[in-house]
Amino acid sequence: MSAYDVLVVGAGLAGSTIAERCAGEFGANVLLIDRRPHLAGNCHDPIGDDGLQYHQYGPHIFHTNAEHVVRYLSAFTAWRPYEHRVLANIDGRLVPIPINQTTINALYGLDLDEAGIAAFLERVAEPRAEIRSSEDVIVTRVGRELYERFFAGYTRKHWARDAADLDASVCGRIPTRTNADDRYFTDRFQRMPADGYTKMVERMTAHPRIERVLGVDYHEIADRARFRHVVFTGPIDAFFEDRFGKLPYRSLRFEFETHDVERYQAAGCINEPSEDVPYLRTTEYKHLTGQQHAKTIVSREYPSAEGEPYYPIPAPESREQYRKYAMLAQRTRGVTFVGRLAEYRYYNMDQAVASALRTADELVGVLRAAS
Ligand code: FAD
Ligand code: UDP
Repeated sequence: MSAYDVLVVGAGLAGSTIAERCAGEFGANVLLIDRRPHLAGNCHDPIGDDGLQYHQYGPHIFHTNAEHVVRYLSAFTAWRPYEHRVLANIDGRLVPIPINQTTINALYGLDLDEAGIAAFLERVAEPRAEIRSSEDVIVTRVGRELYERFFAGYTRKHWARDAADLDASVCGRIPTRTNADDRYFTDRFQRMPADGYTKMVERMTAHPRIERVLGVDYHEIADRARFRHVVFTGPIDAFFEDRFGKLPYRSLRFEFETHDVERYQAAGCINEPSEDVPYLRTTEYKHLTGQQHAKTIVSREYPSAEGEPYYPIPAPESREQYRKYAMLAQRTRGVTFVGRLAEYRYYNMDQAVASALRTADELVGVLRAAS
């Protein structure tokens, strides 16, 4: 065991990127572990018994403007074009979300052009002196009624709190458009790894200097003295045994169903903003994977307080609590914290990789200086 320079805890995108850089760039001997029995963390996309590929932890769509992240990942995967589209079920009618020209014309029986939509939004938007919360950001763009129909219920279901009590960045992720562009994202690069995320991560970590051990928790091998450095990508509060209290996370329960039809629904995701529907969205994975198959697999996401910590909660009081852990982390020598759970940030995949690339640069510098 003492033959390892670096222990990386967590084989998601953050941990796998760090492991690859430390081995590939510096030539470190790396032990990469994960408590789950598979690679790729929350991006894991297995193929089920009937040959259908799905995302075990919910829909993962790759989109980014960060060219260096694309360049880095492209060494381990080819890409398949995919632009994600989402429909929202508003009282039984499916309309595009983000709210766009089509959405407003369909909901209100109008036929407005772009300028007409802009004028409509200007009329209904509520001015606010300051934009602090997710409610502020939406009502100042689309007004109270559209906020209630598309955001208020969905957000309460997802986060178990009102949009007024969440950072503006949460609902601010969803733009508003005056044209008919119905893509969920507008990033320059929107593609999916051609053989899936798990295959990409397998290639990233298939380095002779990386040993991968799955199904092992950090606490089972936590004698840190055996490693020159530890990189931790799990929940930061768990690492410090909840010293400043448990950080709040939101979880999900996934229900999967296979249907004996080629196509189940008209878009990758159908969102359910109504609180009368207990789940958030239905995803049909063939849209995302491009797989050809006589059957199709869908998932429904039921929000939950218990379970895996999928979502850090972006709100003032949780950020304050996280700050105490971050300060303790800074004082903890020989351990680096990186990734969505360790940095307690609502990161997309590209942001997790970008953060890991930044951290890997620093770490390789430290390892070089010490060798
Ligand atoms: P993770 O993937 O969570 O990896 C951390 C790993 O650490 C886990 O595998 C865990 O098992 C392991 N671990 C934790 N503690 C320990 C321990 N004590 N010992 C051993 N192992 C441990 N991003 C997008 O860009 N596009 C999307 O469409 C998108 N959709 C999403 C949908 C859902 C439902 C969720 C939850 C996230 C979504 N994301 C999406 C975000 C994306 O999943 C994350 O940005 C990314 O997976 C973060 O990678 P990570 O390595 O930081 O964390
Ligand atoms: N959101 C909403 N209605 C929608 C879609 C999103 O209210 O139809 C809000 C909700 O608060 C959600 C946030 O916007 O948590 C971010 O949505 P996104 O689709 O990015 O969530 P993720 O894919 O991370 O679950």
